[in-house]
Amino acid sequence: MSNLEELKQRYKVVIIGSGPAGFTAALYAARANLEPIVFEGTQAGGQLTLTTAVENYPGFPDGIMGPDLMDYMRKQAERFGAKCVFAEVTSVDLSKRPFKIVAGETVLQADTLIIASGASAKLLGINSERRLLGHGVSTCATCDGFFFKDQEVVVVGGGDTAVEEAVFLTKYATKVTVIHRRDRLRASKILQERAFKNKKIEFIWDSVVEEIIGDKEKGVTGVKIRNVVTGEISEKACQGVFVAIGHTPNTKLFKGQLEMDEKGYIITKNGTTEISVPGVFAAGDVQDHRYRQAITAAGTGCMAAMDAEKFIEEHGE
Ligand code: NAP
Repeated sequence: MSNLEELKQRYKVVIIGSGPAGFTAALYAARANLEPIVFEGTQAGGQLTLTTAVENYPGFPDGIMGPDLMDYMRKQAERFGAKCVFAEVTSVDLSKRPFKIVAGETVLQADTLIIASGASAKLLGINSERRLLGHGVSTCATCDGFFFKDQEVVVVGGGDTAVEEAVFLTKYATKVTVIHRRDRLRASKILQERAFKNKKIEFIWDSVVEEIIGDKEKGVTGVKIRNVVTGEISEKACQGVFVAIGHTPNTKLFKGQLEMDEKGYIITKNGTTEISVPGVFAAGDVQDHRYRQAITAAGTGCMAAMDAEKFIEEHGE
C-alpha cells in the first residue's frame, strides 16, 4: 500500500475501485508497464470482503476466504508495479483529457480512467444484519446458497432477484420462505409462477424483518417479523437470511459526466468496456446488474486494462 504523498502528478491509468475488477485491471495494466494507480475507496477489497468463504472462484479447489482472495489480488498487482492507495476519489473532471482526479487534497491527471467502483447490495439497515453478514446473512444466493444444504432459509424482497434466489436456494435448502413487505410480488410473472409452483417455497406477505436472531459463533437461528398491516410480531426459525432488495451502483461521483441507465449503471459499448467518454472504461458490477460475480468482474477488469492500453497506444499522451 502506498501513501498519497508519494504519488506522481500524472498517471497513464487511474483505477477507481478495489474489487476483483479493479485489481485485475491493475494487474494487467501493470504488466503492460502502464504503472497504474488504484484508489481503493472506503471499502477496500470490495463486496468480497463482506463474505466469508468463496467456493466458486476458479483455481481454489478448497475455497478461499473473500478477504484473503482480495489481499492476494492486491499483492499480485503490486508485484508488477501497481500503486494501491487507501483513499477515496472525491471528484473527477472528465470533460477533457488528461482527466482530473481529486482525492481530498490530492489532485492528479489521468490519461485513461478505469471505473471499477462496484455496486453495493442494499441492506435492511438493522444492526443484527451487519453483524451477521457472512455468518448466516448473505446478499448473494449464488455465492452462499451451498452453505445452507438441508437447512431452512429466508429470502427478503419481492423483486426478480428475490424470487430467482428463492428458486435457486431450493436446490439446497429444505424450505425457503420469502418475506415481502407487500401482498404481491414485483417480480416478472414467469418467475412468480415458477416460485408459486415450487413446493419448497412459502411466502409471508405484508411483513418486514425487524431483527435477525443469532450470533457469529452459532450463526443465524431465526428472524423476528412484523406484519405491517396488523402490527403483529412473530418469530420464525431459520439458519440463513438472504437479503435481496436490490443493489445500488456506486456512480454518484460520475453523475452528469457519462452515460448511465435509469438505475445509475454505466453503459458500456458493444461487448467492450468503452463508455460514452473516450479514454474512460468501466468494469465489474458498476456496469453489470446481471451477473455480478467475482469472476465476471475480474474478466471485465482485464478487458478494461486492455482497452485502456489500446487507447493509449492510439492516442499517445
Ligand atoms: P428491485 O426490482 O428493485 O426489487 C427490490 C425488491 O425489494 C422489491 O420487491 C421491494 O419491495 C423490496 N424492497 C426494497 N427495499 C426494501 C426494504 N428496505 N425492505 C424490504 N423490502 C424492500 O431489485 P431486484 O429484484 O434486485 O432487481 C433489480 C433489476 O434487475 C430489476 O430490473 C430486475 O428486473 C432485474 N433482474 C432481472 C432478473 C431476470 O430477469 N432473471 C433477475 C434479477 C434481477 P416493493 O416491491 O414493495 O418495492
